[in-house]
This record gives sequence, C-alpha cells and structure tokens, in this order.
Amino acid sequence: MARILLEIVTPSKMVVSEEVDIVTAPGVAGEFGVMAHHAPMVAAIKIGELCYRVGDKVEYLAVSGGFCEVSRNRITFLCEAAEKAEDIDVERALKAKERAERRIQEALAKAEKIDLARAQAALQRALARLKVVEHARGGQPR
Ligand code: ATP
Repeated sequence: MARILLEIVTPSKMVVSEEVDIVTAPGVAGEFGVMAHHAPMVAAIKIGELCYRVGDKVEYLAVSGGFCEVSRNRITFLCEAAEKAEDIDVERALKAKERAERRIQEALAKAEKIDLARAQAALQRALARLKVVEHARGGQPR
C-alpha cells in the first residue's frame, strides 16, 4: 500500500518522521484524514488527538494548535506542542486539568474573559492528553 511521509514538528523538536498509511487530525473545521497522494492543501489544527496507522500499528498523539500542509506526498504538522501517548505524563495532565477547572471557575466569578479563554485552552490540552493515553491503552478505540 502506498504511504505518505508524516512529519510532526514543534518549536523544540521533530516528534514524528515516518511513512504512514493514514493520518487523522483535529482540523479547526473538523477532523480529517489524509492518505498517500492526497491533493495539496493547508489546514489549521486545533487542540486534540491526532492518530496515524502504519500496517497494524496505530499511534496516538496529543497536539496543540498549529498548521498542517500536504504537498508532494508529505504531510507536515507545525504545532505548538505534540506528545506521543507514551511520552505523556498522566499525573501532570491531571494536575493541569484540576488547575484549569479551578481557574475557569475563578474567571467566571470575576467575569475575566482573557483568563477564562486561557484556562479553557489549558483544560482542552489536558483533556486531549488524557484522552490520547486512554486510547493508546486500548480504551475506546476510534
Ligand atoms: P502544564 O501546565 O502541565 O505545563 P500546559 O498545557 O500548559 O501544561 P504546554 O504549554 O502545552 O503545557 O506545553 C509545554 C511543554 O510541556 C511542551 O513541550 C509539551 O509537550 C509539554 N507537556 C505539557 N504537558 C505535558 C504532559 N502532561 N506530559 C508530557 N509533556 C507535557
């Protein structure tokens, strides 16, 4: 089966560089899938779960916002942060989730829109990390 080169890049490192069968990503306009020889495109990426398959292997990653470009049988994600399931620190994500939930309540009480938006984004990142770990461990496969 023809494959497409997947690259996931953050400001600090190349997280993935691998030929894959299919990649599914959380686009701002909705989830989308890309396989070999896809037409060129660019898309904005939101916080969420990205997954890809190579043969029988399925990998899950948490990604923060960014952009994706498909060109010449290569799909490149430039993301603020991206973690493979095995690199996610669950305790840290649980603490981040609790902190974000507390900040959301505080921001709502004070009607602070900027604090609220930041806390909501932090909550989304924490939830995405927890979901990715759950899926990688076999719970609720997609
Ligand atoms: P925290 O409050 O725990 O730092 P955060 O959502 O604010 O979470 P980010 O700003 O998205 O963190 O990421 C900062 C760096 O830390 C990135 O390199 C990201 O990959 C990494 N990171 C954040 N949370 C985790 C986690 N739970 N497990 C592994 N790496 C993480």
